[in-house]
Amino acid sequence: MTPSKPPAIAEETSLDPADWEAFANTAHQLLDQAMDRLRTARDGPVWRPVPEALKAGLAAPVPRDPEGSADVATALAGLLPYGVGNTHPRFFGWVHGSGAPGNLLSDITAAALNANCGGRDHAAIYVERQVVAWCRELFGFPQTGSGLVVSGTSMATLIALKTARDAALDFTSRDQGLGPSVLVGYAARSAHSCIARTFDLLGLGTDALRRIETDADGRMNLDALACQIRRDRDAGLQPAMLVGTAGTVDIGAIDDLSALADIAAEQGLWLHVDGAFGACAILSDELRPRLAGIERAQSLAFDFHKWLHVNYDAGCVLIRDGALHRRAFAVTPDYLSQEVRGLAAGAPWPVDFGPELSRGARAIRVWAHLKEHGTRRLGQMIRRNCEQAAYLADRVDATPELERLAPVALNIVCFRATRPEGEAGALDQLNRDIVIALQESGLAAPSTTRIGGVLAIRVNLTNHRTRRQDLDLLVEATVHLARELTAG
Ligand SMILES: *Cc1c(COP(=O)(O)O)cnc(C)c1O
Repeated sequence: MTPSKPPAIAEETSLDPADWEAFANTAHQLLDQAMDRLRTARDGPVWRPVPEALKAGLAAPVPRDPEGSADVATALAGLLPYGVGNTHPRFFGWVHGSGAPGNLLSDITAAALNANCGGRDHAAIYVERQVVAWCRELFGFPQTGSGLVVSGTSMATLIALKTARDAALDFTSRDQGLGPSVLVGYAARSAHSCIARTFDLLGLGTDALRRIETDADGRMNLDALACQIRRDRDAGLQPAMLVGTAGTVDIGAIDDLSALADIAAEQGLWLHVDGAFGACAILSDELRPRLAGIERAQSLAFDFHKWLHVNYDAGCVLIRDGALHRRAFAVTPDYLSQEVRGLAAGAPWPVDFGPELSRGARAIRVWAHLKEHGTRRLGQMIRRNCEQAAYLADRVDATPELERLAPVALNIVCFRATRPEGEAGALDQLNRDIVIALQESGLAAPSTTRIGGVLAIRVNLTNHRTRRQDLDLLVEATVHLARELTAG
C-alpha cells in the first residue's frame, strides 16, 4: 500500500476569513465608500472614461495566489468612480434607472444568504412569490396567473413568447420542435429589438415577426395590422402572437392596448405587452388610464431596474394563465423531484417557469425596494419625470436654435440643434458631435436616435435625482455647444 498524499492545505482551512475582525473592518470601510459614492451622486462628471491605468491593472494574469480581502476591497473601491453614469441626475441616455441606496442593504442580505432560487423551501422563494403576487395585483392579472423575477425585459419576453409559441402548437413543439409550423407574430415598427431577437431564439425566425407601420404619434396602425393578419391567413400562415408596447424606446409611445386586446381576442392571438419602463406608469393615478387594456394581456414583460430604480438587474414576466406557463417549462428529472415536506418542498418551483435552474435571489432587492419606498411614491417619481419631459419640451420649443422632433407622450424628448441651417448630413453630424461633447465633458449624458430619418438628441427621464435646473443646464449647454461647434 502506498501512503496517501498529505493534504495540500490544512483540514481546517476554508475560504472564510482567517481574521473575522479584520474582514469586518474592511467590509465596513467599503460600505462607507459605497455610501459616499451615492451621497455625492450629484457631484462631479456624469461619466468619465475608464483610465488607461485602470484597464492595464485589470489586464493582469490569472490570480494564482490569494491577494486577500483588504487588497481586493481597495481594488473594488477603485471601480466606484467609473460607472455608466446613471446614478447622476444628468444621465439622460437610453432607458436606465438610477438605482437607490437601499439596494446596498438588500444586496448584502442576498449575498449573506447566497440562496439558489431555482426551487426548494426557503425564505427567498417566498419573497419572489410575494413580489409576483404584488405585480399581479398592480397590473390586474388574475390570481391564477404566474410570474418570475428575471434579469430584465429581454429574458421576460423570451419566457412569455416561448409560452405563447408552445401554446399555439399545443405544446408539441416541446418534444418535436417546430416541424412544419408556420407561426407569425406582429409588433409595431418601433418595437424593441428584443422582440425580434426572441423570434430568432425561439426558432421562428425574425421574418416571422411582421413589423407594422406606426401613426404620427408612434402607435401601431391598427388598419395596417388588420391587413397584414388577413394577408398572412390568405397565405396559409398561422398568426399567433401580437406584441404591444407600453412605452417605446424612441419616443415613449404607448400602443392602444385596449384595441390590441380586442383584436387579439377576435383573431385568437396571444397578446404580449412589452412594458419595459412604460408599464410602471400604472403606479401613477394620473398616468394609469393611458395603460388601459394592459390587464387583458396574456403576458407582460417589464423592468424593475428602469423606472422603478431597483438596482440592476431585475425585471418581471407575468403570465395570465399559470398552467400554460408551467406546461411550457416544467421538467422534472429524478434529481429534482419535489416533496410536500422538508427542503425539497415549496412547490411550485421557479425552475418550472423559466429556462434557468440555478438563479440568485434578485427578488429580495425588489421586495425591499418596494417596501422601503412604497408604490405611491414610486408612482409620483414617474409622474414627476413626465412633467419634467413636458417642461423640457416647452424649453426646446421656446429656443429658436432648437427644434423638437417628436411629440412627448411620456418621459422622452427628442430634439436637435438646427442652426446654422445647412444640408441634412451636416446637421446630423453637428448633433452627434453635441451629444459626444456633452458626454465627454461630463456635464450631461443624453443619447441619440433617428426620428423621421434625422439624427435626434434623445433625452430620457427615468431618473429620480433629476431636477428642472438640470434640464435648464442641458438646454443652455446644447445651445452653447451648437454655436461653438459651428463656429469652429
Ligand atoms: C429596455 C427595454 C427592453 C429590454 O429590457 P432589458 O431589461 O434591457 O432586457 C425591451 N423593451 C423596451 C421598450 C425597453 O425599453
